[in-house]
Amino acid sequence: MLKKVLIANRGEIACRVIRGCRELGIQSVAIFSEADRESLHVKMADSAICVGAGSNSDSYLNLGNVLMACQISGAEAVHPGYGYFSERANFAIALESLGIKFIGPPVRSIEAMGDKASAKKAAVAAKVPVVPGSQGAVANESEALKIAEKIGYPVLLKAVAGGGGRGIRRVDAPDDLAGLWRTAQAEAQASFGSGEILVEKAVVSPRHVEFQVIGDEHGNMVHLGERECSVQNLRHQKIVEEAPYVRLPEGVRKKMGEAAVRVAQSVGYQNAGTVEFLVDRNNDYYFLEMNTRLQVEHPVTEEITGVDLVHLMLRVASGEKLGLRQKDVEIRGHSIEARVTAQDPDTDFSPSTGCITSWISPGGRGVRMETNCYAGLRVTPFYDPLLAKLIVTGVDRPDAVARLQTALHSFEVGGIATNIPFLRRLTSHPDWVKGDFDTSFVPRMLDQEGA
Ligand code: ADP
Ligand code: ADP
Ligand code: MG
Repeated sequence: MLKKVLIANRGEIACRVIRGCRELGIQSVAIFSEADRESLHVKMADSAICVGAGSNSDSYLNLGNVLMACQISGAEAVHPGYGYFSERANFAIALESLGIKFIGPPVRSIEAMGDKASAKKAAVAAKVPVVPGSQGAVANESEALKIAEKIGYPVLLKAVAGGGGRGIRRVDAPDDLAGLWRTAQAEAQASFGSGEILVEKAVVSPRHVEFQVIGDEHGNMVHLGERECSVQNLRHQKIVEEAPYVRLPEGVRKKMGEAAVRVAQSVGYQNAGTVEFLVDRNNDYYFLEMNTRLQVEHPVTEEITGVDLVHLMLRVASGEKLGLRQKDVEIRGHSIEARVTAQDPDTDFSPSTGCITSWISPGGRGVRMETNCYAGLRVTPFYDPLLAKLIVTGVDRPDAVARLQTALHSFEVGGIATNIPFLRRLTSHPDWVKGDFDTSFVPRMLDQEGA
């Protein structure tokens, strides 16, 4: 087993991984920026190294500084969390050259799934259905017009290098294409350093359904069932996720799970990863992308399978066998995660900053909190607005829904604005309670509220 692991991340996910290390008797090393000196992950780790000033580019995304920290820490392995360097092949390659293990898939898997064009190619080769559209990046807007004409409107323009919901534009009619092409390209260039765009048919009223996979270095791989992540904000970012997706017919679930494992194996995948799909009203499914890392919403899968994904990641990175066959994976109960963010629902979800003066968090049976926050912590403008993930688990969906409503009711944060009031409204909306929603639910709900 590994003896010392550096966690190249911050926030709740750094805390989550540090805890997992401690439970397995692994020493943990945190990295932190000057703005994160008081962060919980720094206090929790066995040791901590400062990697620069407050901004991401000066610290957590400063490759030289992070690699230096890895080297001087004496860690044998690095857990990248999500975001940051988690899906950057150059980070894994650099670690390898220093003789440090990257806790994640092999470089060639990261590269194969590194952008949306090559990921789609891999899916097609593995005989997994993809959303109809361009084969890869589209040369220019007249080419995009031709493809859109062929597949039919509405279409989406998507950044080939995209992620986190950025660089996606919906085009409803040919006249709008040129203008949206330019904004999509500019956003892609600014966010990802590449202006490459692909064109895809917009699936009508889809559900976002993703499968968790995990594999070892000995050729074993299983999937741990699906997560439903259709509750997304206007920028296609997930807000509430749950597992399982209760309306998925068993036959479709089985096929999708097999497809997820097949596409992952086709790129030589190891360790934890997520294969994302869209499911339409007829329960036809289409591969979207593969995230080659631990996902934000992984806890709901842990809750219903009893598997600790961070432990498994550390174990398979140590060379251990998975010790889990597909038929051993059992789904029990229902789990829902709500992302609590420092965003003010009254001002278009603009980020809020300042000192958290009070933090009264829910507890009780079936309630799990993943957070780096506490009363007295200062929320700075430098990072992602995620404050906490509130995860609740019940015997079935109605039980979990009631538990989430109750937990949100007793969640009080003072000093900064949060999205908690919005989450309370969302989780008491009759359509959400019934399970009647798709990826356009939140925009529709906000429309209704505005009217
Ligand atoms: P997931 O499917 O895991 O929820 P998302 O794409 O919704 O993934 O969110 C992950 C994205 O959020 C990353 O690609 C990154 O842009 C951003 N992100 C993730 N972790 C952090 C973090 N700790 N700090 C800042 N941004 C982050
Ligand atoms: P990202 O890398 O930013 O996560 P994804 O390809 O995973 O991008 O898509 C994010 C979200 O955007 C999906 O969950 C879905 O809500 C929406 N989306 C993406 N592609 C399509 C599509 N072809 N049709 C309809 N919605 C889509
Ligand atoms: Mg995605």
